[in-house]
Amino acid sequence: MSYTQGLRHFGERPVPVKCPKCAHIANQRAAKLRKNTPLKCPHCGLEFLPSQCPRIGG
Ligand SMILES: [Zn+2]
Repeated sequence: MSYTQGLRHFGERPVPVKCPKCAHIANQRAAKLRKNTPLKCPHCGLEFLPSQCPRIGG
């Protein structure tokens, strides 16, 4: 499944996002990713934008 298809498919459902610093994977809302809202890693506390993620989704 591609990135854009995933966003359409999941809507408000949680999407696994990989932290660019520590590689911890946390579930974030798909709506936040779509708006490029800053996310906070629950593991290391880093704030980052979805567009900075090395990988979104599976
Ligand atoms: Zn992190």
